[in-house]
Amino acid sequence: MIKLQKLVDVHTHLEQYAHKTLGSILKRAEGDGVRRIVTSGMDLDTSVLAVEIAGSHRNVLASVGIHPWMAADGVPEDRYDKLKEIIRKTAVVAVGEIGLDFVDNVFRGISFRGNEQLCKAQILAFETQVELACELRLPMIVHSRGAKPALIEILRNKRAHRAGGVIHNFDGNEKEASTLLDMGFFLSIGGAVTFPEATGVREVSSRLPLDGMLTETDSPYMPLYGQSTAQNEPSNVLQVVKVLSALRGIKEEKVAEAVYSNFLALFPPRENEKKKGAVLNRSETSRSGL
Ligand SMILES: [Zn+2]
Repeated sequence: MIKLQKLVDVHTHLEQYAHKTLGSILKRAEGDGVRRIVTSGMDLDTSVLAVEIAGSHRNVLASVGIHPWMAADGVPEDRYDKLKEIIRKTAVVAVGEIGLDFVDNVFRGISFRGNEQLCKAQILAFETQVELACELRLPMIVHSRGAKPALIEILRNKRAHRAGGVIHNFDGNEKEASTLLDMGFFLSIGGAVTFPEATGVREVSSRLPLDGMLTETDSPYMPLYGQSTAQNEPSNVLQVVKVLSALRGIKEEKVAEAVYSNFLALFPPRENEKKKGAVLNRSETSRSGL
């Protein structure tokens, strides 16, 4: 097999790994051809960590936002001002992980199903951050579980196409896929596609237009088929590409090239590189006017 050189992991949470293991995790990813990684915060603290990791590791870009699990109890208003401040001063490339999850919070064992109050708080946080992304013209990294109709309605009402972004770990049907693609969003395929029983995801992934697709691991969460969570890391995106190529009957290189060029379309390199060196306490890198 020709070694793939341009892989993309558009969604991971690198701050979840023990600090001392991160260097070797990223080295393994690079060794497997992963050239671009976007690490996403889930609240203010992990967003700050995402920015720090991106600032000190080449190939890693940062996204900041409040995840729907963290937003379910309500988000104090000043959190958004703080997020905005981080975005203005640093090399952040996206707003995320944001979104809606009407199923459950796997960490806290809380079910959102039918809990109107918790779902309302998520909706408010999502709407606020979609507005933020549009205002700052930054793509969004969007989480969606059990909430596609509400999610699509909000993205449409907020005219989210102005900022665009990624629906991460896309698990919707073909109609939802084409609606979201028409709204300018990319659909990211993750480890779920490696499960033989995930017939819906495999079916849709095999038919998505190549120019609308991205790849991810959502590591350390969402382990691949046959793995434990402890084994998931960005280098596994190679397995995702292999499965996609097998499902579609095309060469792995073709999948990898398409995904890489989609990534560059969403995150143009010049803008990334220009601000890559920025750190949290520098203020001359304001995004205003961009
Ligand atoms: Zn995630």
